[in-house]
Amino acid sequence: MQDIKELALAELQDQLLSYGFPKYHAKQIFSWIYQKGIIEFSSMSNLPLALRNKIGEEFYILGLKLADLQKSSDGTTKFLFELEDKNLVEAVNIPAARRSTGCISSQVGCKFSCRFCASGLGGFKRNLRAGEILDEVLYLKNNTQGTDLTHIVFMGTGEPLDNYENVLKSIRIINSCDAFNIGARRITISTSGIIPGIERLALEDLQIELSISLHAPDDKRRSQVMPVNQKYPLKDLIRCCHEYIAKTNRQITFEYILIKNFNSGTDAAQELVNLLKDLRLAKVNLIPANPVPELKIMPASKPEIEAFKEYLFKSGINVTLRQERGEDIDAACGQLRLRHGQK
Ligand code: SAH
Repeated sequence: MQDIKELALAELQDQLLSYGFPKYHAKQIFSWIYQKGIIEFSSMSNLPLALRNKIGEEFYILGLKLADLQKSSDGTTKFLFELEDKNLVEAVNIPAARRSTGCISSQVGCKFSCRFCASGLGGFKRNLRAGEILDEVLYLKNNTQGTDLTHIVFMGTGEPLDNYENVLKSIRIINSCDAFNIGARRITISTSGIIPGIERLALEDLQIELSISLHAPDDKRRSQVMPVNQKYPLKDLIRCCHEYIAKTNRQITFEYILIKNFNSGTDAAQELVNLLKDLRLAKVNLIPANPVPELKIMPASKPEIEAFKEYLFKSGINVTLRQERGEDIDAACGQLRLRHGQK
């Protein structure tokens, strides 16, 4: 049996033709799965019975199972999924007024060992297939209360640009008007700064959002918390950002976690301004660090955070402070999976 979500629309059309059915049924199948959230072929009432039977023999729709769930008092819900091979991945649904953001994983575990992130603690297992990434989206869509799933961010476990093909394949289906139909500007890839991936992304005809996890303003500090910085140091990364902006005319968001006694002083703010000041379309999103007890990471104090933001703002940097969500659950990346492993 094959995961039907591995197939793009044209591939499914070809498959149906090879079974002797007209290709227009492929759009109907896409609509049942991605727009109506139907996960059984038997419910696809506008398909001929013979086709429902045939695709039911060849394909399945949803491959994952819910393994655990945590719901925050603010409505943020974290799902832990078990994949067919028993590996676990997390996804989060973050509701807000008239929108709902799905935060999804792209890999099982992570190779990059950022010191503040719980995702890398168990090491790297494997890439997710496009169909598995779409499973997360489908599950979130079917379990979003109040509003539709309107935004997708690749900010769960894993490095999306280290699983480039599968992530891009899933994004094309998330974006397709025959499938989830989520606008490209509502889809964000977040990367630890994989330069070849950013270069490749700049050549795609997709208007998706790019976030870069920066978290320190100089190579010394960044390498301390993000080993990936040794391979792709700041000078090269910022040059790559200039090229990305020149090619795409799109803004880059720099994520910056404020960690106590590390990167939240005025010296760091000053260095950050110098690093980013020549970028034409850039924004800094400050994030109070999510405490991960296993990693001894603590957030900077509220006054420190405010002073940092103020410094950036006065220096002409476009800056926002991320609203913390799901604080009463294991909301930081990889935390639910980590706890589950310890149960
Ligand atoms: N590998 C990608 C995407 C996954 S991480 C990347 O590095 O961007 C998604 C975001 O969560 C990143 O900005 C990451 O730095 C942040 N994050 C990880 N651990 C965190 C913590 N303890 N507190 C706050 N944000 C954290």
